[in-house]
Amino acid sequence: IGLLLCTDTQPFLAWKMSREQLVVQRARQSFQTGKTKPLEYRILQLKRLQVFLRERRKELADSLKKDLNKSECGAELFEIVVVEAEIKLAIESVAEWSAPRPVHKSLVTISDEVYVKPEPLGVVLIIGPWNYPLALVLLPLVGAIAAGNAAVMKPSDLSTNTSNLLKELLHHYIDEDAYPVVTGGVPETQELLKQRFDHVFYTGSTTVGKIVMEAAAQHLTPVTLELGGKSPCYIDKNCDIAIACRRITWGKFINCGQTCIAPDYILCEPSIQNRVLEEIKKSVKEFYTDNPKTSEDYGCIINHRQFRRIMGLMEGTTIAFGGDADESRCYIAPTVLKNVTGESKIMKEEIFGPLLPILTVSGVDEAIQFINRGEKPLVVYVFSHDNKSSLPFGGVGHSGMGHYRGRHSFDQLSHLRSCLIKQLSMEALNGVRYPPHTAKKLGW
Ligand code: NAD
Repeated sequence: IGLLLCTDTQPFLAWKMSREQLVVQRARQSFQTGKTKPLEYRILQLKRLQVFLRERRKELADSLKKDLNKSECGAELFEIVVVEAEIKLAIESVAEWSAPRPVHKSLVTISDEVYVKPEPLGVVLIIGPWNYPLALVLLPLVGAIAAGNAAVMKPSDLSTNTSNLLKELLHHYIDEDAYPVVTGGVPETQELLKQRFDHVFYTGSTTVGKIVMEAAAQHLTPVTLELGGKSPCYIDKNCDIAIACRRITWGKFINCGQTCIAPDYILCEPSIQNRVLEEIKKSVKEFYTDNPKTSEDYGCIINHRQFRRIMGLMEGTTIAFGGDADESRCYIAPTVLKNVTGESKIMKEEIFGPLLPILTVSGVDEAIQFINRGEKPLVVYVFSHDNKSSLPFGGVGHSGMGHYRGRHSFDQLSHLRSCLIKQLSMEALNGVRYPPHTAKKLGW
């Protein structure tokens, strides 16, 4: 393979190179030719990505079904449409995003032309997780292309079908040299991480996030880390509990709880615990029928290892409803656990599965104290009468670093270069800078 892929000028060097090294080298060479930079090229690649999603919808939906038992509608809404919207926005906005941005002048730059010019960083490594295996590789790719970078994609080995499909098909649509897909697990990812990139965009667990950041630090490569965490929900006793529970039920059990921003646990006052339980039970029935195992809309756990980990989290807890499981189908029913305490095993790690513990607190102050005792979660859901809005996506501390989506992806994967154009005329104005700094010259 080494000899087949090597360049004419470096056949012997290439022979010794790993597959990952060769792929990265090819992406770097592509970037260095400058071909990824013109706006026409970026827009063409984004349009080709649109065609890929349009033409390969069926195969993509089938592979998501095989990997995670995603329904056709689930695949469409949460994997494909979300990427299509991101591409459309990038195509429409890339000219504006990449144009020089005027900045305020200071006294020092008053006679100069000053602006910020977004420039591509170079070669970006995108490492994706298995829970939304298509969207969480392609969303950062859209940002990388829009910003004029080359990018190497490494989808998760656990979502084998979707990862292999990306590897098999994507190169028929977009420039393979500049946007290659590398499949594989830990050894392949670690080999990739040894290479020098200009940015690493990682989505996955906090534990692996630390490995990624350590590897990137060897090259002083900046990272975006989209990690997880235990995202709490606080339900105020005076809010519309039925609506709050319906929304929590949707967010928790979609994709079988394997969503980074899924509500991890509920905090509420003891007086409403039973009401919360009843409302969630009602919504589970509405969404997935009395028997979620046969529901088209209910997913499965990604593999047996995860299945056993999630089942183990139920130890020592009280099941309010749900709890059925079938390992042969990686099925765990939507399950709610009541009167859980902060010391339980299930409260020590991100659940990332369809188990929803309820912990009771005396009120909002105790809820805040409880949340603050843990690591920073990716999201906090508060159900009260206040409005909430969201813009860029990203966490802080153990839940991540940096942010992305739309223009934020573009900026994250660009170098916002400060430019100052100083005229050679009006030299007299500079006189004060030059030594000797006599009192006379300074006007003292
Ligand atoms: P993971 O960290 O196990 O794997 C993610 C990627 O890292 C995969 O491509 C995998 O091959 C690679 N990898 C795994 N172990 C590695 C190692 N030792 N060295 C180098 N590479 C390695 O994560 P996951 O289990 O696929 O995803 C689940 C986690 O991702 C959850 O914690 C979830 O909250 C988080 N997540 C976060 C977001 C977000 O946007 N913030 C989105 C989805 C998932």
